Amino acid sequence: EARSQGSGHFCFARSDLAARADRRLAIEQELRLALERNELVVFYQPQVDLRDGAFIGAEALVRWIHPSRGLVGPMEFIDVAEDVGLIDQLGSYVLQSVAAQLAAWGRKGLYPKVAVNVSASQCMQPDFCSGIFDVLSKSGVPTTSLQIELTESVAMRDPVRTARELAPLRAAGVRLAIDDFGTGYSNLATITRLPFDVLKIDRSFVSECVRDGASRVVVATILSMAQNLGYQTVAEGVETELQREFLLRYGCTFAQGYLFGKPMPAPEFEAAFIEQRRIDARDLQEQVRSV
Ligand code: C2E
Ligand code: MG
Ligand code: MG
Ligand code: MG
Repeated sequence: EARSQGSGHFCFARSDLAARADRRLAIEQELRLALERNELVVFYQPQVDLRDGAFIGAEALVRWIHPSRGLVGPMEFIDVAEDVGLIDQLGSYVLQSVAAQLAAWGRKGLYPKVAVNVSASQCMQPDFCSGIFDVLSKSGVPTTSLQIELTESVAMRDPVRTARELAPLRAAGVRLAIDDFGTGYSNLATITRLPFDVLKIDRSFVSECVRDGASRVVVATILSMAQNLGYQTVAEGVETELQREFLLRYGCTFAQGYLFGKPMPAPEFEAAFIEQRRIDARDLQEQVRSV
């Protein structure tokens, strides 16, 4: 009995491993083609000012328009891209696509700030920083339009080097954010010495901050620490009005989440951004009229 169970388990583990290897190989091959055929697109998720709900910009999130599988999210392929050495190519594709989009928006008088996610291998490239300056200057996009997001664990892998690599970007006005803050077991003393401007509070805490006492304390503590250390804060994954109220009350500055908008194609984000400005202008006119 025990023996057959054991071997059954082994078989399961083996086929599971094999299935994973198959998936990986399939994704790798298809992803190479996808990059050549421009099947990857960038979606934009609104980031808002929590005080008045105004759109300040967006986070750029890559999607794969797969010829047979439809819209595929990054959780399905970013890890493979990292493992098989395609992430640098993917990353520069995303960056160029965002820069081109920002340039097009700039020509229409629209200046949203856009945050781009960066993987470990990308920011460890010797020309990471100059590559970003290059793309921005070639497309005529101001450095202040761009935010770079690194997860805590990536930033902490080699903090001294991270600080050295990122310093010129920050000095030039690119905003630097720590993504998924609170999930990486960081040494707080070290992380606060890195040149970051923004802490993004991980969705796992935000989504529980109303229901669960421990998450509430974590969020409140991060917000208070951020205020005292001079960081801006972005809450990830805000889905309810109660969460919005809680975050606002505890001093969070910015937020993103389904409550304000899902990641959407560029034209849709553009329309929402313009609509937002129209509402702002109308409010302003009403205020002026009422004095
Ligand atoms: P992330 O940077 O933490 O991005 C936030 C994720 O949370 C996005 O998932 C977004 O769709 C999701 N999200 C936002 N608001 C809500 C909400 O209210 N509810 C729920 N349930 N989810 C919400 P997505 O687009 O699937 O991206 C997953 C991760 O993939 C990102 O996490 C990021 O780490 C990575 N990623 C995405 N695009 C890129 C990229 O261009 N380069 C790299 N290196 N990584 C990327
Ligand atoms: Mg991010
Ligand atoms: Mg995040
Ligand atoms: Mg996250």
